[in-house]
Amino acid sequence: MDYIKEKVAYLQGLAEGLKIEESSAEGKVLFHIIDVLDDITDALDGLAEAQYAAEEEAEEVQEILSDIVEFFDVLAEDDDEDYDEDDDDLYEVICPECGETYLTDFESFEEDDVSCPACGAPFKLEESVLEKLTHDDVDASDKDK
Ligand SMILES: [Zn+2]
Repeated sequence: MDYIKEKVAYLQGLAEGLKIEESSAEGKVLFHIIDVLDDITDALDGLAEAQYAAEEEAEEVQEILSDIVEFFDVLAEDDDEDYDEDDDDLYEVICPECGETYLTDFESFEEDDVSCPACGAPFKLEESVLEKLTHDDVDASDKDK
């Protein structure tokens, strides 16, 4: 859009340079035309900006969408993977006795063999949480069959 602005500015300079009388009939028309051209350029600028913003927004939405698609793709891949992979997942546990935070894997939960490395206190998952975890597991393996 800059080149149109330059042309209008050039026209303005030209009209002034040629000493066209602004009060003459031709001058009135000419300067009015230049004025309108200037307005049109500004309007085009605004449109271009709005279009650019809209394109940016559309791109952002596109990116978010592809992130979401990717996220679900990864989830789907995880489901297909071997079970051992899931057992490697680490869970953060906060010791109920001493408050120590440590990591343990899912297998340990299943075998009920989780204890605090700081004080040795065993950690038991709440029944409902354990049920949900193992239930999810069953669901996933069912899908694989
Ligand atoms: Zn502890």
